[in-house]
Amino acid sequence: MMKNGILMKIKAMKFYVVITGIFLLIALAGCQKDPIEERDEFVSDMAAAVRADSLESYVRWLEGMGTRFALADNHREVARQIKTRFIAFGYPDTKLDSFLLTKTYRGTVYTTWQFNVVATLPGRSSDSVSVIGAHYDNIVSTGDPFTVVPGANDNASGVAAALEIARLMKKFRFKPRYTIHFVAFAAEELGLFGSGDYAGKAAARGDNMMMMINHDMIAYQPPQAAKPWYVNIIHYDNSSGLMQDAARLCAANSDLISYSDNTFYNRSDSYPFFMNGFRPLFFHQNEIESTYHTVNDLTSSCNFEYCREIVKISCSLVAEKNYQSD
Ligand SMILES: [Zn+2]
Repeated sequence: MMKNGILMKIKAMKFYVVITGIFLLIALAGCQKDPIEERDEFVSDMAAAVRADSLESYVRWLEGMGTRFALADNHREVARQIKTRFIAFGYPDTKLDSFLLTKTYRGTVYTTWQFNVVATLPGRSSDSVSVIGAHYDNIVSTGDPFTVVPGANDNASGVAAALEIARLMKKFRFKPRYTIHFVAFAAEELGLFGSGDYAGKAAARGDNMMMMINHDMIAYQPPQAAKPWYVNIIHYDNSSGLMQDAARLCAANSDLISYSDNTFYNRSDSYPFFMNGFRPLFFHQNEIESTYHTVNDLTSSCNFEYCREIVKISCSLVAEKNYQSD
């Protein structure tokens, strides 16, 4: 009886150990999140933090510079102010990258230094770079571009996208897998010169580029336009996979319906990247406003709720592709 009693106790103890072990395993499994779920949650939290009022404030600030015509005397000062803004957002490594441009405009030859603004968020690895860009210059087709060029939608809205994503990446203490460059391009309106210079230099250096995300004119919706609103995600022969990722993230993290009409593929800063062998996408509104390249391209005609939804998509894409858990 005695012997049997000890055996029973040992059996019972074994039973308890096994049961406790099973419960511990279940508890641990419950705590440990699926890494994909964890990434998606991080990305959608960041997208949800994109603010319409932030975007509006950057556009108003850029519009307030008077003119952002690339040949106007203040063009270096415009670049310097954008640089200062990135530094204030926590990007001490922000540089003006210069190039010489000779351009004939209305019968006069101008030779000027032009300045791309490049802010860097260092990656855990520098083996690759993602570029988030938009041109900051603008032009008016009639009247004097040397004095007044508000360029709110074209393309303060695009620069605002890059600034807002830069702000959020600091706010979320994002440590990207690979390096991210936020670039405000010069002299787009005179012939895609800033992006041409950047992409040409990157190709000459042999840079490995995960993607280039361009924003150009992303804040116009006709007044009282009924929802759903649409966004055009223009892609290139080498970036249809990237476009599909963007479309999936659009459905997941924004209110917009995406499509891809590539008619204007060569009309903005993404094009020189494609021509230099890099993979770009170009985010663009689906309607063209009547104030295009006029003194009436004003902050007051922009729709920042719409702009916010577009920025949610590009922000999601760059965050997802560069996500790495600690
Ligand atoms: Zn533009």
